[in-house]
Amino acid sequence: MKIALIKGDGIGPEVINQALKALGAVSERFKCSFEYQEALMGGCAIDETGVPLPIETVNICKQSDAVLLGAVGGPKWDSLPGNLRPEAGLLGIRKAMDVYANLRPAILFPQLKSASSLKEEILVNGLDIMVVRELTGGAYFGEKKKVITEDGIKAWDMMSYTFYEVERITRTAYDIARKRKKKVTVVDKANVLESSRLWREVTGEISKEYSDLEVSYMYVDNAAMQLVRNPGQFDVILTENLFGDILSDEASMLTGSMGMLPSASIGIRKTGIFEPIHGSAPDIAGKDMANPLAAILSCGMMLEYGLNMKNEADAVYKAVNTVLDKDYRTVDIMQPGMKSVGTEMMGNLVAEIILSDTEV
Ligand code: NAD
Repeated sequence: MKIALIKGDGIGPEVINQALKALGAVSERFKCSFEYQEALMGGCAIDETGVPLPIETVNICKQSDAVLLGAVGGPKWDSLPGNLRPEAGLLGIRKAMDVYANLRPAILFPQLKSASSLKEEILVNGLDIMVVRELTGGAYFGEKKKVITEDGIKAWDMMSYTFYEVERITRTAYDIARKRKKKVTVVDKANVLESSRLWREVTGEISKEYSDLEVSYMYVDNAAMQLVRNPGQFDVILTENLFGDILSDEASMLTGSMGMLPSASIGIRKTGIFEPIHGSAPDIAGKDMANPLAAILSCGMMLEYGLNMKNEADAVYKAVNTVLDKDYRTVDIMQPGMKSVGTEMMGNLVAEIILSDTEV
């Protein structure tokens, strides 16, 4: 398996290095091999090549079976114009790889229940939500303009979707739901937006082929409220780009720590992009303080969704659970009575557990 590695900036390289330890353990235990090729993106790419996404990086990613990404950005590059900022690399690589589905699991590890911002009684049934966000359409990619009119300045961002764009993400979400609790909540604003009414039409049409699923609809304002009121009612949330951006952040914060959450972006090509949801955390970069578990879990998603290696993925997920069961914590998830470890040590522990566990 060929894997493109984009370590990025700040804590990106630190957490990806720990993820590589986990992959090393997987390859030893399951007798498979991974071939890595590093590529530049973000601030480090700007420093070296002048642009956030060099063409060579796109080529390396396209020739790989999966892309593992750390995080990009930092104050050093904040004053650059938008198209030259590190984050432009992120949008660029998603577009170049045609990844239209962003999978963001929001899982509350029982060991970290007290880190959630929600009261324990709301979390009695745990929290395990998969937000499936459309990633390449809607207002972020529609026509945008700023003009001066007789009435003053006017600006707009067009939220547009084609039938096909909605259909393909719907199939992705429905297929995922089939492997979970078979329950999908489509989140939209169909009472006011024409594009949302198209979403209802398409998701309804496709649901006829998925009669084993329970598909329901919810307005986005209500969904934002229900996520904090009764998150246990959700399993798969399917939604468009802008709503998904906001709701997936809200859902992930319910779990208490940015350092624990992975994501996957998949599309038409076989090559997906797998990355922790957190940023480059310049405030803790280089201090051995970053939690590498989100990056390690991103490897799990890469194995599961990108490389079709479910047993190997389960070994990674299980090792993360075990390391928490053994009371090891990085600073961001530290609780009284637990054992504090740094980034490197956490990576070593997870790799050791993957190697020593023979049950999965
Ligand atoms: P951030 O996620 O980098 O950090 C927010 C807070 O969470 C910080 O206090 C940080 O120390 C902490 N944190 C984040 N990840 C952690 C981890 N693994 N372990 C422990 N603590 C962790 O968000 P920010 O501060 O808003 O952004 C910093 C930079 O990252 C900016 O340049 C931003 O544009 C960029 N960014 C990149 C991505 C990406 O590459 N996908 C995503 C978000 C932000």
